[in-house]
Amino acid sequence: MQSGKNTLYAAANSVDVLGLGCGPANLALAAAIEDGHQESALRAIFTERADSVEWQKNMLIPWSRSQTSFVKDLVTLRNPRSEFSFLNFLKATGKLVEFANLGTLFPYRIELSAYVSWVAERLGKVEISTRHECTALQPVIEGGRVTEFEASFSNGRRIRAADVVVGIGRKPNIPTAFKGLPDDRCAHSSKFLSLVDAWKGRRGLRVAVVGSGQSAAEILLSIPEELPESRVTVIMRSLGFRNSETSKFLDEFYFPEFVDVFYGLPEAGRRLVADEIRHTNYAGVTPVMLEALYSKIYLERLTNTAQHEISGSTEVVDASVADGNVHLQLRNMMTNEVSETQCDFVVLATGYETGQPALLADIGELLIKDATGQFVVNRNYRVETEPGVEASIYLQGYSEATHGITEGVLSIVSIRAQNVLQEIFERRAERLRRSSDKMRVAN
Ligand SMILES: Cc1cc2nc3c(=O)[nH]c(=O)nc-3n(C[C@H](O)[C@H](O)[C@H](O)COP(=O)(O)OP(=O)(O)OC[C@H]3O[C@@H](n4cnc5c(N)ncnc54)[C@H](O)[C@@H]3O)c2cc1C
Repeated sequence: MQSGKNTLYAAANSVDVLGLGCGPANLALAAAIEDGHQESALRAIFTERADSVEWQKNMLIPWSRSQTSFVKDLVTLRNPRSEFSFLNFLKATGKLVEFANLGTLFPYRIELSAYVSWVAERLGKVEISTRHECTALQPVIEGGRVTEFEASFSNGRRIRAADVVVGIGRKPNIPTAFKGLPDDRCAHSSKFLSLVDAWKGRRGLRVAVVGSGQSAAEILLSIPEELPESRVTVIMRSLGFRNSETSKFLDEFYFPEFVDVFYGLPEAGRRLVADEIRHTNYAGVTPVMLEALYSKIYLERLTNTAQHEISGSTEVVDASVADGNVHLQLRNMMTNEVSETQCDFVVLATGYETGQPALLADIGELLIKDATGQFVVNRNYRVETEPGVEASIYLQGYSEATHGITEGVLSIVSIRAQNVLQEIFERRAERLRRSSDKMRVAN
């Protein structure tokens, strides 16, 4: 069934551009296509598996903030005059003056998510189709050449396009020890608020959180608010939470121009930069968050009302469910001692896998791989293809090894969308040239 507000191409089974996933990455592209519609009208559909377009819906903890300036929204770095800017969203929803008074560059995540939904609603020349989970991609072959890719969706629909842009986000990382646990007892942070909802109303719950990054800290602080009288223990391999290692100097490695520098480096140079910059985005917590968490725990100790506990230098080696409890076998990494703890449920704030999407498996033979088995992605995010493939696949967010740290964040989504769109136009022009050459030869 077709759903979503905008059903421009509801009956179409072939469009110019097909976007898979409606997160910030592909919405930035949808906005770029719509902004340029006057000059070059592309027929484009963007599909989303969820019922609605929202940003990280299950981690919209009310007080959580975006770590990225609103200036790096879906459009502003590309075109500050686009109607799809965060500031225009505030204006259109009557919140501009109040937001200005808040005096921050870092909106609440609920507000940024509302902005993302607003952009999806406001698009009028690009179709946004929710409840469209892409399950497979297949080549469309005409005259011995791959002219389009066809996407199949869980609702039975099929859509073809010569340019397909994959922006379905990253796959949650589930450590092996937790793989056999039932969903109501163990969930990844990407399902956090749904899991909490399922336990709402229960008092005195014991919860374990695994991880040491920003999400682990946020979940740790949030659980007793969401589930009163609960006690929560965060289990982490590191000794304790650490600050994310940012500075204005290191932020320059998130500039759009740095993608060119990084892409041009030899393998060893890329590795060196990646190792240096890693802790600006991974396995660290913002100083503001750490301050709030530490003060909270200090006060609990002072008043003998401990609800939060931190178990550092500890690894979960096994997890199982028995007698109505989750049993966790813990190894103290300093002493090697193994102990057991029990809880009602576990939240895994264990991050995401950085590999390329499994969705490409069926068309893998048509895509060029490097020595490590990864698909080769050009500067403008197009996967290099074997001879005879005229259609294109673009990847948004999966090329950290070659394009750098910005692949996992919002910082340059608007510029990356522009790069992708530029490549789409170049490929379209090339196809047109090729087909007019063919016609000339035939005549
Ligand atoms: C809790 C959290 C907070 C974050 N905060 C920040 C921050 O403050 N600043 C920052 O820069 N980055 C942040 N990030 C990083 C984050 O990766 C980016 O913000 C951003 O969400 C990436 O956008 P995306 O469109 O690539 O992927 P996603 O936002 O993951 O969007 C992918 C979309 O594709 C849909 N989808 C998945 N599979 C399919 C399918 N088969 N068919 C159709 N649709 C599908 C999903 O439902 C989803 O809507 C945060 C990440 C998390 C998890």
